[in-house]
Amino acid sequence: MQMPIMDTDIKPVPEFNLEDTPKGTLKYYWLNIVSDGFGNPVSIPLIVARGMEDGPVLGLTAAVHGNELNGVPVIQRLFAEVDVKELKGSIIGVPVVNVPSFMRKKRRFPDGVDLNHIMPGKPNGNTSQIYAYRFVDRLVRHFDFLLDLHTASSGRINSYYIRADMDQPATKELALLQNADIIVHNPPLDGTLRGAADALDIPAITLEVGNPNTFQKRLIRSGIEGIHNVLCHLGMIDDELEVAEKETVICMRSYWLYTDMGGLLTIRANLLDRLGKNQDVATLRDIFGRKIRDFHVPDAGIVIGKSVSPVNQSGGRILHLGIIDESKG
Ligand SMILES: [Zn+2]
Repeated sequence: MQMPIMDTDIKPVPEFNLEDTPKGTLKYYWLNIVSDGFGNPVSIPLIVARGMEDGPVLGLTAAVHGNELNGVPVIQRLFAEVDVKELKGSIIGVPVVNVPSFMRKKRRFPDGVDLNHIMPGKPNGNTSQIYAYRFVDRLVRHFDFLLDLHTASSGRINSYYIRADMDQPATKELALLQNADIIVHNPPLDGTLRGAADALDIPAITLEVGNPNTFQKRLIRSGIEGIHNVLCHLGMIDDELEVAEKETVICMRSYWLYTDMGGLLTIRANLLDRLGKNQDVATLRDIFGRKIRDFHVPDAGIVIGKSVSPVNQSGGRILHLGIIDESKG
């Protein structure tokens, strides 16, 4: 009988040190970040692939929001496919950043805070701030590049899209290599992991890989393809770029369209639909089935994401509209 694999042989480490992983090997670690109410360590899973030759350090992070799961198998499979004997530089994968929320299947940290709004945290802060601080301080600052994998939030679905600062050549290049459906130009905002990395001069982009609380095969494959292309581009592997089947749509900005009153919402627009200015996209009905009103998009654009949750209060989300940058195709 085959013995099950136990992870008890994976030693917890108090700090990250690339030298712990010999050249030409792949190692798993639990990196201690904080301790819980019993005083037991709360540790982040790490996969480190270190090539024979020195080179860039590429960081891959997933589940900063604890219910955003597609990034987890993207990272697992990427490491399953990588050949450390042929690799130049190192890949550091974090399948789950927000460990307490992953176990609760929740987006937010247990204190109700969105970790991706408070990066890089505070060294003497509250529970979420200190967790964020130590994650950045103990690990992220070792990266040369960062790809941060997310999904849509609960009750919404997304196309495969990238958030990146398209005014910075390094992040623009990383974004274009992903073969995504859409890239949204988005300067690195304070509080996001992408912004915290940018502040440390680490070029970083956010990959929005589909829907929450699930594994989506096609999107997982797309995520791996994008990372493979980054590894080729950075000279970390010697392989050919995978070319996109269709062109990526580049948006100069995006915004959500919200309901101004409550009711039951039916959205007719689908992901990646191209919409004309004032196009009718959704209908709100009351509980008796009577139509309250239709909603129209104020601008022409493309559907990046949409709500799949029919019950809406005033201010419910309808769809995430990208405004296409025609100058960038
Ligand atoms: Zn997220």
